[in-house]
Amino acid sequence: MSHKTNCSKEEEALLLEKCQEAKRHSYSPYSHFPVGAALLTKEGKLYTGCNVENAAYPTSLCAERTAIVKAVSEGHREFKAIAISSNLTDSFISPCGGCRQMMAEFSLDMTVYMTKADGSFQTTTVDELLPFAFTPVRMKENRLDGPSQQGAS
Ligand SMILES: [Zn+2]
Repeated sequence: MSHKTNCSKEEEALLLEKCQEAKRHSYSPYSHFPVGAALLTKEGKLYTGCNVENAAYPTSLCAERTAIVKAVSEGHREFKAIAISSNLTDSFISPCGGCRQMMAEFSLDMTVYMTKADGSFQTTTVDELLPFAFTPVRMKENRLDGPSQQGAS
């Protein structure tokens, strides 16, 4: 696990502050496990997200994906970093497999800040969290049906 980041000190401070704030809006009446996320686009825009649960459990959305969906729906597809917060004190909050896949779709190289409730953090990248990721690039490579067949049915 590296401690490298592609963010400036100011960006890092903002991400760490905003991911803690985002947790306050968490709707988690079932898990009672609030999570917050702050996502920085390559253009420098910041989007926050919280987990939004549902009585139909699989409908629930994680904080990281909430932030990504907000950003993508406003025209951003390239991300520099994401910070995640929870109330865990004994370990750094780590994104679930579904969120890792969603991050990999857009930015394998983005920095992921995994925090503890006390504000301490570890950094990694999506690439490190999801080795051999299935990405749009990989989907296009080495297809048996070839690129000319894509979209034909
Ligand atoms: Zn998740």
